[in-house]
Formats: sequence, C-alpha cells, structure tokens
Amino acid sequence: MNSQNTLPEQVDVVVVGAGNAAMCAALTARESGASVAILECAPIDEAGGNSRFTAGAMRCVYAGVDDLRELMPDLSDQEIANTDFGTYTEEQFFDDMGRVTQYRCNPDLVETMIRNSRETMLWMNQQGVRFQPIWGRQAFKVDGKFKFWGGLTVEAWGGGPGLVDSLGSACAQAGISIHYQARALELLTEHDRVCGVRVKQVSKISEVRAEAVVLASGGFEANHEWRARYLGPGWDLARVRGSRFNSGDGIRMALDIGATPYGHWSGCHAVGWERNAPEFGDLAVGDGFQKHSYPFSIMLNANGQRFLDEGADFRNYTYAKYGAVILNQPSQFAWQIFDQKVTHLLRDEYRIRQVTRVSADSIEELVTKLEGVDAQAALATIHEYNQSVRRDVAFNPNIKDGRCTEGLAMPKSNWANTLDQGPFEAYAVTCGITFTFGGLRIDTDARVLDGDLQPIPGLFAAGELVGGIFYHNYPGGSGLMAGAVFGRVAGSSAGRSVVDAVS
Ligand SMILES: Cc1cc2nc3c(=O)[nH]c(=O)nc-3n(C[C@H](O)[C@H](O)[C@H](O)COP(=O)(O)OP(=O)(O)OC[C@H]3O[C@@H](n4cnc5c(N)ncnc54)[C@H](O)[C@@H]3O)c2cc1C
Repeated sequence: MNSQNTLPEQVDVVVVGAGNAAMCAALTARESGASVAILECAPIDEAGGNSRFTAGAMRCVYAGVDDLRELMPDLSDQEIANTDFGTYTEEQFFDDMGRVTQYRCNPDLVETMIRNSRETMLWMNQQGVRFQPIWGRQAFKVDGKFKFWGGLTVEAWGGGPGLVDSLGSACAQAGISIHYQARALELLTEHDRVCGVRVKQVSKISEVRAEAVVLASGGFEANHEWRARYLGPGWDLARVRGSRFNSGDGIRMALDIGATPYGHWSGCHAVGWERNAPEFGDLAVGDGFQKHSYPFSIMLNANGQRFLDEGADFRNYTYAKYGAVILNQPSQFAWQIFDQKVTHLLRDEYRIRQVTRVSADSIEELVTKLEGVDAQAALATIHEYNQSVRRDVAFNPNIKDGRCTEGLAMPKSNWANTLDQGPFEAYAVTCGITFTFGGLRIDTDARVLDGDLQPIPGLFAAGELVGGIFYHNYPGGSGLMAGAVFGRVAGSSAGRSVVDAVS
C-alpha cells in the first residue's frame, strides 16, 4: 500500500477508512479527476478494516457460466464441465434480501446494490482484483460434480487480504495517498457544508480541508459501550470477529453535525465463533474462528438442550443471525456435535490449531467431555433426537433435502442425521459479532441525509456504517458487495460535487 505520513492541508476528496468501501470510493473519485486522500486510524500492519478479515466472498448477479467466465477468465473447460454453477438472477437476489430482512430493507438502496453488483465486480476486476469460484465452502462434490447452492459463487483471489492488497495497489497507482494512524475526529463545516476533517495523527491534531468527505469507517461493533447501549444487555461480552478499530467514529461524527440515524440499530451480523477466541479478530487466523458447518450438526447449550433449527436453511441464510441466538443461551456458549457420517463435510476452519474440540468413541463418553454442559440432559436430548430423524429421505448437502426430524419441539428441517457413528466430534462456540446494521441514512447517490431527509452538502457515506440495508439477518457475501457498490456511488458523487463546488 502507498503510505504517506504528512497530511495534506487541502485535497478535493477525503475518504475516512481504508477498507473495501473506502478504497472503491477513493478510486472512483480519482477517476473523475479529483485529488484524493485516505485517512486510516489503524497502523499499516492492521489496516484494511473488516474487509481484510473476510474470505472475500461477494454476492453478485450472474446469468450463467458465460458471465462467470467473463469475471474469471482462468476457469478451465474441465472445471466448467465438473460444476453446476446455476444462475443467480436479480430476482433471486431481491428475494433473498427481502426474505432474510423480513422485508424491512430499503428497496431503493437494495435495488442500487443488486442492479450494480455485476458491473461493480467487473470494475473491480479492472482495478486488479482477481476472482475465483468458492469451491468447497459453497459447493459440495456429489457424484463427481460440484453444485453451487447458496447464491454465493465468487470470492476474491487471496480472500480479504488479497482483496485489500489489490485495491491498495490500485490506489497507489492512481496517486491516492493513504495516511495510517490518522484518526478522523470530527467533521469541519462552513455555511452548512462539510469542508474537511479534524484529524489526530499519532499525537498531532490537524485539519484537512476538502470539497467533499466520504465516510467509510465501519460500524460500531468494536465499541463495547455502544454494543450494550444499542444491541442490548450481554452484547458487551461478545467477541469481535474483525477489526478493533470499527468503533462507530464515522457514525458519531455525522450525527454530531445533524445526520439522521437509520436502519436496525439493535441488530447486527453475528455468528457462532470459537469459544476461546480473543477479544478482537486475529489477522493470522482471519475468519478461521467461525464454525459454519453447523447445518450438519446438532447444537447443545449448557442445559444439554437444542435451541435452534440447525437445518432451517442453507448456511448462507442462517449463520448471520445464529450468533445472537447463541449469545442468549446460558453463559453464552454452545457445542456443535458431529458424527463420522458428516465429518468429511466440515469446512477448513474446523482443522485450525486454535479450536476447542473434544472427541470420543461413544456418545455417552462425549457428553461427559462437553465442558459446562449437563451431561445427563445432553444424553437424553441426543437419544430423543436420534429417534426423531426421518430415515426414509436421502441426505444431500447440496440441496435443502427435507431430511428432517419429526415430533420435536425444536425441529431440524434439513440434513438431519442420526448421531450413531463414532468417533464423535464436538466444537465449542460462542457469539462473534461481525458488524452492526444501524447507521447513517443515505440516498441512492450515497449522500448523507439530515433530520429533514435533506442531503448534507459535501458529505457521503458507504459500507458498514450505512443503515437501512440489513435487518435481522443477512445473505452471505452481501457486505462487501454493498460496500463496493455504494463506495463507487459515493466516490462518483463526491467527485461530481467537487466539480460543482469549483464551477
Ligand atoms: C471475519 C469476517 C469475515 C467476513 N467475511 C465476509 C465475506 O466473506 N464476504 C462479505 O461480503 N462480507 C464479509 N464480512 C463482512 C465485511 O467485512 C464487511 O461488510 C465489509 O468489509 C465492510 O467494509 P467497510 O469498508 O465498510 O469497513 P471496513 O473494511 O471495516 O473498513 C473500515 C475502516 O475504517 C477505519 N476507521 C474506523 N474509524 C476510523 C477513524 N475515526 N478514522 C480513520 N479510519 C477509521 C478502520 O480502521 C477500517 O480500516 C466479514 C467480516 C468479518 C469480520
């Protein structure tokens, strides 16, 4: 990444943050001819925000394999022959967004995201971001053929680090300076117009004047106090999956000058996460603390009871809301239990060194090893569950197979297998928060709106800190896509506003 220590006194566009949304905004503003500086509060080796922690998976519309080939020219004929990529249409993406957000998402913002998703990926490709299919995590090999099942088919080469490094290189080539350890403190205003940012770089406070400011500094997931205040009791105890720097600064700075809050402020994306994971994400582990093969498990809480439908839907449509369910269990933990019939399907994150894992040859022995769990109750739950599994329906991980339980108060709707083939494995999880859903209100030009729903001149926003897109839940791979699309929109609007301001 291009880094500079001396802050400019004046620049056309200042972008706050150096994650995916910020760099897409910066590059687009630069394309319009504006001079651009990025302020990033993290030191260079921790920069890149949550975007760096991701797998780089991006949800985008495609009409078939030809669209994917345009995005991934390295796809071989053999790979194509061995894979059913299906399609992911605009209608499917709209359906997914509507369904998982309980039809609360802002239709205009969502339409902007979806209709620009494919074109944005092609633009990112032109900036040097390479893509590949998400074999393994999003498609299982059955009878020699992979089948993609969850609308999420493409990831950045090199995952989140690859994505951030490619965008960083593109910024360097475009002459955009990135200033590390430069924390934006407050927005400067003049005659109701945003005209720059007050910045603390290491210990020095200075001002950077600008015609336009783009806020792309993430949500408030790393802020213990705001989590308890807005998400509710117990959320201060959640582990943070990603950056320790996303503490809501951009949201606060905009609210301070009259921006209106918007979206699901008491909601967030949170997942089942290694029980003994550190307080914040660890870049050496990335997203490896997540444990997302739970649709093939049963999950037990401290009382030895199941508490959610592990097979309600594909992982992509349940994982982001199940962290909250785990947080609400006694002592905020659960164990995922697998038998040998499915352990070959476990994602790679189950094989990292830093897991809390126990195994045993019998279920009777396994339950005694589940730390913190009522073993007798757990045994009874497993026996009852085994009795309830429908064995007349074939198990198939690539489809919602309808192999369910019958007669349980808490059903398992798909992929229900009896637990009877040892050795058995169990993994302990707690809640890991990914990002918060509430934030600023923007229009489809990414202009930040005030309390009268009027644009605040000179102020734009993109990425996690935008409210109104995600409510209750989230379809996997949409965060990077929302950030990239609105990053581009914000960069383009900021560039336009510079031209307007000087003409
Ligand atoms: C472990 C993990 C895995 C994920 N996997 C995926 C995935 O595969 N696909 C997907 O779509 N989404 C994924 N997500 C969600 C995704 O990371 C976010 O939706 C997306 O990266 C947000 O991008 P952003 O640019 O808005 O914020 P970020 O990438 O978090 O960037 C915000 C930046 O702002 C900086 N900043 C904060 N405050 C200030 C300040 N005052 N001054 C200056 N800089 C500041 C931060 O240091 C940070 O660099 C994952 C998240 C995590 C944590």
